[in-house]
Amino acid sequence: MENMLRSFIRDVPDFPEPGVIFKDITPALGDAGALVDIVEALAAPYVNEGITKVAGIESRGFILAAPVAMALGAGFVPLRKPGKLPYEVVREEYSLEYGTDALEMHVDAVDATDRVLVVDDVIATGGTAAAAARLLNRPGAHIVGMVVMVELTFLNGRAALNGLPMRALVTYGD
Ligand code: AMP
Repeated sequence: MENMLRSFIRDVPDFPEPGVIFKDITPALGDAGALVDIVEALAAPYVNEGITKVAGIESRGFILAAPVAMALGAGFVPLRKPGKLPYEVVREEYSLEYGTDALEMHVDAVDATDRVLVVDDVIATGGTAAAAARLLNRPGAHIVGMVVMVELTFLNGRAALNGLPMRALVTYGD
């Protein structure tokens, strides 16, 4: 799985800004066999965890979270950038290198009976993932864990997660 992923994940230097090496997952998504294998690998550790909702982080997280939710027999919850969700939202801000950003979730998307898996494509500094966890905690949902395709270990995103268990299919930087 790791070698397959490494062959399908493309480094794009200086995107979206100078100094960032962007991990482009579109070659992996575009391969029919890889797409099935990735969704199956993301979902497999959680089949017996009683997951009721899979939360995807905008926007590449959505692509993975919906089929993972189907594989687990769970619902899908979008965590979106500000102003995108139509109904009443809760909101959590997080720091970027320059300024802040935020994630929003519909107020009724999860409740205290839910067992939630959070899905994204890449974890870098962990700021986005930590904001996602804070959002889901507000209505009292139980966050079982987080799973990503790619972990950039040199940015130490795990440390931002306050002990939330996180799995990655492939790591870069160690
Ligand atoms: P962070 O909050 O720093 O962990 O950033 C995570 C979010 O930014 C994820 O939703 C990723 O999709 C995106 N991201 C950050 N760094 C990269 C990178 N080098 N390549 C691809 N996506 C990235």
